[in-house]
Amino acid sequence: MLQLSEEIRNAKTIGIGGHIRPDGDCVGSCMALYLYLKKCMPSDAEIAVYFEKPSDIFNTIKDISEIRTEAEEGKQFDLFFVLDCEGSRLGFAEKLFRQAKKKINIDHHISSNGCGDLNYVDANASSTSELVYDLLEKEWIDEEIAKALYIGIIHDTGVFQYSNTSPKTLRIAADLVSYGFDFSALIEKTFYEKTYLQNQIMGRALLESIMFLDGRCIVSCLDRKVMQFYNVTAADLDGIVSHLRNIRDVECAIFMYETDILEYKVSMRSTDKVDVARIASFFGGGGHKKAAGCTMSGTFHDVVNNLSVHIEKQLNEEEN
Ligand code: AMP
Ligand code: MN
Ligand code: MN
Repeated sequence: MLQLSEEIRNAKTIGIGGHIRPDGDCVGSCMALYLYLKKCMPSDAEIAVYFEKPSDIFNTIKDISEIRTEAEEGKQFDLFFVLDCEGSRLGFAEKLFRQAKKKINIDHHISSNGCGDLNYVDANASSTSELVYDLLEKEWIDEEIAKALYIGIIHDTGVFQYSNTSPKTLRIAADLVSYGFDFSALIEKTFYEKTYLQNQIMGRALLESIMFLDGRCIVSCLDRKVMQFYNVTAADLDGIVSHLRNIRDVECAIFMYETDILEYKVSMRSTDKVDVARIASFFGGGGHKKAAGCTMSGTFHDVVNNLSVHIEKQLNEEEN
């Protein structure tokens, strides 16, 4: 296993990058590693963390205001960590990753091949936060680091509901809550609570959803005009796809929103019967067996037709 203390020992500058449209696991794992390195590295070491400005719900994480949302020109880190994604999903921070002297990739996506010189990639892990926990020396963990990791784990496991939750995940969570933060409030505030507008847009998406393949699939789509009408951004759409998946008899749910003219960000959630990571990877995205995403071009109908061929094939294979 990757020995974190060995790797950071001789680095004077360390960068950390997370994926575009950062989710709870991305924010939690990056910030936990950032707080940890700031604590255990000598004071003259430079530690920096890069990802897009996340949702305000993550403002409870210590030093979240220190994230860098732009990459400095020509900067070369001694060590660069890529968390919860591959280098190609880093967005603006990708050039920092490419230029770094040494790269370490920590990820749990089944579609990930490991983009670092060193990789700690485990598709059986619930979250990247769980993998970061594995690597940290426990005596340096404090309440703020524990809280960041806990946020990452609850977001990627749907508060320990999804099948990626293992006994190990729960043991780690038990250790993390022992640091004393208010986990109940954290779950409520960062996972379940939604604004009125977020609820309205969710209602609209559910209302306009369409079943197909005999009710085994459901799709809903929001175009930019509707998003503008409700004054919402992509970050306000979290949770819609899992609501669609919760509908009885649905094996595969698709939620998509317009990102550009004839371009959609597609999210898919499934049961055991459909491997959506395979489908998303086919269209240039990735993810996990039961939760994956990609960006697709064409009209709404083009996208649904293209996806449904793959879904139907898998459902038929499953039956035969
Ligand atoms: P989402 O539907 O965006 O919530 O993503 C579901 C899962 O698939 C998450 O673990 C994402 O990190 C992953 N994912 C989403 N989009 C992509 C993509 N374009 N490439 C690789 N992984 C993705
Ligand atoms: Mn993520
Ligand atoms: Mn993740």
